[in-house]
Amino acid sequence: MNELDSEIMIGQLANRGLTRTYSEDDADLLIYNTCSIRDLAERKVMGKLGQLGRGKKKNSIIGITGCMAMAKKESLFRKFPHLDFVVGTNNITDLNSVLDEVLYTDKQILKTDTKYEENLDYMIAKRDDNLKAYVSIIRGCDKFCTYCVVPYTRGQEVSRHPDSIVEECKKLVDDGYKEITLLGQNVNSYGKDKPEWNCLFHDLLYKLDQIKGLYRVRFMTSHPIDITEDLMYAIRDLPSLCDLIHFPIQAGSSRILRKMHRIYTKEQYLEKVAKIKEIIPNASLGTDIIVGFPTETEEEFLETYNVFKDIRYSVAFIYTYSPRKGTPAMRWKDNVPQEVKDDRLHRLMELYNQIGSEQRQEMLGSTVEVLVDRFNRDNEHLRGRTSCWKKVIFKGSENLIGTLQKIKIHSFSHQTLIGEIIK
Ligand code: SAH
Ligand code: SF4
Repeated sequence: MNELDSEIMIGQLANRGLTRTYSEDDADLLIYNTCSIRDLAERKVMGKLGQLGRGKKKNSIIGITGCMAMAKKESLFRKFPHLDFVVGTNNITDLNSVLDEVLYTDKQILKTDTKYEENLDYMIAKRDDNLKAYVSIIRGCDKFCTYCVVPYTRGQEVSRHPDSIVEECKKLVDDGYKEITLLGQNVNSYGKDKPEWNCLFHDLLYKLDQIKGLYRVRFMTSHPIDITEDLMYAIRDLPSLCDLIHFPIQAGSSRILRKMHRIYTKEQYLEKVAKIKEIIPNASLGTDIIVGFPTETEEEFLETYNVFKDIRYSVAFIYTYSPRKGTPAMRWKDNVPQEVKDDRLHRLMELYNQIGSEQRQEMLGSTVEVLVDRFNRDNEHLRGRTSCWKKVIFKGSENLIGTLQKIKIHSFSHQTLIGEIIK
């Protein structure tokens, strides 16, 4: 989500004649588009701002955008007097007017509206990649999981009009894009806030599948409670829809899930998984997991571990719990020592790696479809991803970039599958 917001900001700045540089030393304007999801993300930015304050970039304009702007607001100016602006997640399209104010008034400018501008001009985004694009379909979150800052930093759920989404996707395909990832904190609540549109998430997918030349549609991320059978049928039936379903469980114990306010039990989650497997037998599942949530016992952690082992997730983002200011969980005693959290993270990561290598072993000899996106770093092979997000490399010529190819897998190295084109 932040990457797309950055691309939208870069598009606006390009319109006023600025060019992007990848080196901090060359920049006249530095913007940190920040994340508040965990403490580490915030600490990195704080460290960076401290360095800049010590004179490193005295003559540059420096701004903070994104979730930290929403979470910390004017306190950032107190801590970092050299900051020129703080612009929140709902004001990203005000960037140019904020810059004008900075330039002409020499004041520190704060813009952190809690309400989101529905007519945000997404078309302005200037993307780095020319085959794969992120497209936002719903912003904000209404779920209020007890550990999470997102509902406070990104506000309530607001869906984007389907015509605007289809228009952007068509334009991207005309410009040569082949794969689109639909973004939202919870994409499958799409359309619920606008019943008059008569377009829920699965309806949107049917519309997008009709766009000629759009090879692949992915989405990220989905709250398990809102995954419907209609959505499962759409994934099964629509050729453009990828078979990887990101379906974050967060924890495997129903007591912890209740404490997290995830609004499903372990059993309800597993029932949904069984339904997904029944309707889409070759689906792969992805997840996010938090270990060491306040009061999580070893037995409760083992429930998470065992669910992971049974489901054999093919993609997982695993984190230790990080207390966030303003969330209900912050008020509870965080009684799981950091070493215990780290140990649980380590054990789960080992299991994840072991499952990954078993899955790669099982794929030997199979044929997969790959969207070829570039030359691999070794400059010898081309690389691309399968529908289930597995990285594959193989020998071939440059003109295959941007095409779908059938690849027979013969080996793997670390996480990368290696194969050859089937003519
Ligand atoms: N809307 C998505 C998640 C978006 S945030 C969902 O509900 O699944 C991305 C991930 O960050 C979450 O899934 C969660 O695993 C992790 N996360 C959020 N808050 C966290 C916290 N306080 N500590 C550790 N991990 C956290
Ligand atoms: Fe955060 Fe996701 Fe829960 Fe929303 S649904 S509060 S984004 S973890």
